[in-house]
Amino acid sequence: MVKAPIKVVVRTRPTANFAYKNIQINESSNYVGINIPKNAESGYVNHQQENWGFHFDKVLQNVSQEVMFDVCAKDIVLSVLEGYSGTIMCYGQTGAGKTFTTTGTTTDYKYRGLIPRCISQLFQEVGQRYEQQITVGVSYLEIYNELLTDLLAGSVAPNDQTQQLAIQEDTNGRVHVKNQIIRQCKTEEEAQAMIFEGETNRTISEHKLNKNSSRSHCVFTIHLEIRSRVESTEKVIISKLHLVDLAGSERTKKTGSEGRTLLEAQFINKSLSFLEQVVVALSEKQRDHIPYRQSKLTNLLKDSIGGNSKTIMIANIWPEADHLEETISTLKFATRMMKVANEATIQLKLDPTVLLKKYEKEIKELKQELAM
Ligand code: ADP
Ligand code: MG
Repeated sequence: MVKAPIKVVVRTRPTANFAYKNIQINESSNYVGINIPKNAESGYVNHQQENWGFHFDKVLQNVSQEVMFDVCAKDIVLSVLEGYSGTIMCYGQTGAGKTFTTTGTTTDYKYRGLIPRCISQLFQEVGQRYEQQITVGVSYLEIYNELLTDLLAGSVAPNDQTQQLAIQEDTNGRVHVKNQIIRQCKTEEEAQAMIFEGETNRTISEHKLNKNSSRSHCVFTIHLEIRSRVESTEKVIISKLHLVDLAGSERTKKTGSEGRTLLEAQFINKSLSFLEQVVVALSEKQRDHIPYRQSKLTNLLKDSIGGNSKTIMIANIWPEADHLEETISTLKFATRMMKVANEATIQLKLDPTVLLKKYEKEIKELKQELAM
């Protein structure tokens, strides 16, 4: 078992109107300082405190997609290949760069985000590990208004309860999504195509159901099964890498929504506040009653937060004067997250076909002994 506190990396979004007077970013000491102007209008966070200081594992200002991948993902991909599950999730207000960080743009190679880069690295490694047979599966899920849908299940995921997936736990406490599609991918290209397929289905359903993608959580998961080619064993190592693009963390009042959008905003605030409650409970070490079951998101990410996973949270911030309040709120949440300690272990399952062969051999040997 490896003790693994959740790591937090802050990424700033490039901006033409950087709030120099209010935000100090120091990459060498991984520090973000924020001061609220004295004449701040009501609505700003906590008037009592005008200066905030935050320290993180890493603070990155205006870095490339390549640097993000090197800092946040490279090691996690390697440890997923060792059998430890991993999670990389992006948190922050809408517009702060979560989707750019997670998926990036498909048009320009250099702007590819973490998902396509993880897939590339993974297949490069798989190609070099001759002593292992590694199978790669991909799933892509979306949570919208507490409904969990499969982005690989076809063009539209209707708001129909029968299309909703259920989250289950096995006797070992491992989380499973019942009936989710896991596409087996033999090549890098096949896996990369899953991003496009999921995105397309998401966009179609966005138009058909008139929903706002910044209000949904997306979870792209790479599932690995690792078998030894050199040893005859029924043991199969299984691991997962979740890449999570969370819904925008902004609070309802700012959007001034009404009707359906208000309902969406409430759902989203609810699911992110359940996430916060889980993080608070874990950071205060209330191990016995962690409220994972309150929402689909926390249920699905149970292993990732306080569980069996090496996890990195990327806090995306938008360092403009208009967004100071949201920036402070993101950084406060991120600070909490650093107090959560995960414990990662290698997970195994038994391959029934190999087991069967082993038993057949044993039976044959016993029969021979009896016949002697
Ligand atoms: P979010 O998913 O958090 O709502 P997006 O990722 O959609 O935000 O980013 C909002 C806009 O800012 C997009 O047009 C995106 O391309 C751009 N953007 C965000 N971060 C960066 C970055 N680091 N470099 C260049 N453009 C960025
Ligand atoms: Mg987005």
